Amino acid sequence: MRRLPTVLVLGGTTEATTLIEALAPRIGRDLDVVVSFAGRTTRPTAPAGTVRIGGFGGVDGLAEYLSSTPVDVAVDALHPFAAVMPCNAAEACRAVGVDLLRLQRPSWSTTDGDDWAPVADMSEASAEVALRSPQRVLLTIGRQELDPFRPIVGPTFLVRSIEPPDLDGAWAAVSILDRGPFHLEGERDLLARESVDLLVTKNSGGTATAAKLTAARELGVPVVMVERPPKPPVPTVSSVDEAIAWIDE
Ligand code: NAP
Repeated sequence: MRRLPTVLVLGGTTEATTLIEALAPRIGRDLDVVVSFAGRTTRPTAPAGTVRIGGFGGVDGLAEYLSSTPVDVAVDALHPFAAVMPCNAAEACRAVGVDLLRLQRPSWSTTDGDDWAPVADMSEASAEVALRSPQRVLLTIGRQELDPFRPIVGPTFLVRSIEPPDLDGAWAAVSILDRGPFHLEGERDLLARESVDLLVTKNSGGTATAAKLTAARELGVPVVMVERPPKPPVPTVSSVDEAIAWIDE
């Protein structure tokens, strides 16, 4: 039987899911799709294609996987804050001659009335918080990167996350469990009700969690914005249509 060209999608994002949904009718007809998840969530699912779960074992492991499967083209549809895998993918694809595309939603950018302090990482974000001596800080950075904030005494931190965070530390911290998408009315209400005077967030981009930035602008709440980690330069698109055009080429 003729082997169909195989597309490897490095997933874990809405963009990956949307791309796979768009490719689904073609699977088995003119291409095959393998979706790879890191395995951070239990039983990740994809709308179609073959699912594989877990790390490849660094650059060498991924290069070996690309050659043996074999993979014809790869799409990095990883989260904008995944820092290691985009580098591994670029290096392994270059080593074995597989074309790689990055499908990534655009960053958020400021508009009139925004008061953002851009910082490179969580440690810079925590230094910025300590410098400003706020009273009530809303942290919307997930629950995995809270350590730099735990020693900060003074403000109360409202930690919003999908799953319960570990709030140990010298800080005063309160958990808010919630899952997006978030809407403007709710975000406005949260900032006002909780008297938030500083918001710390990651520049994830996209629409699902952007309303907090509009609410912050309206209420004059400054934002410490953690920028995305640096990535190796590879061809990059921001829409699924562009990604499909690239795959077909
Ligand atoms: P990372 O720091 O870039 O990657 C760490 C290691 O996890 C990689 O070296 C690789 O292990 C493995 N890995 C990552 N993505 C993989 C994938 N799609 N398939 C197979 N192995 C993968 O990534 P991370 O920040 O831990 O994120 C892990 C996953 O969660 C990614 O799929 C990402 O898109 C998603 N995610 C991340 C964030 C975030 O804020 N970082 C938010 C939402 C979703 P080996 O070296 O062994 O291959």
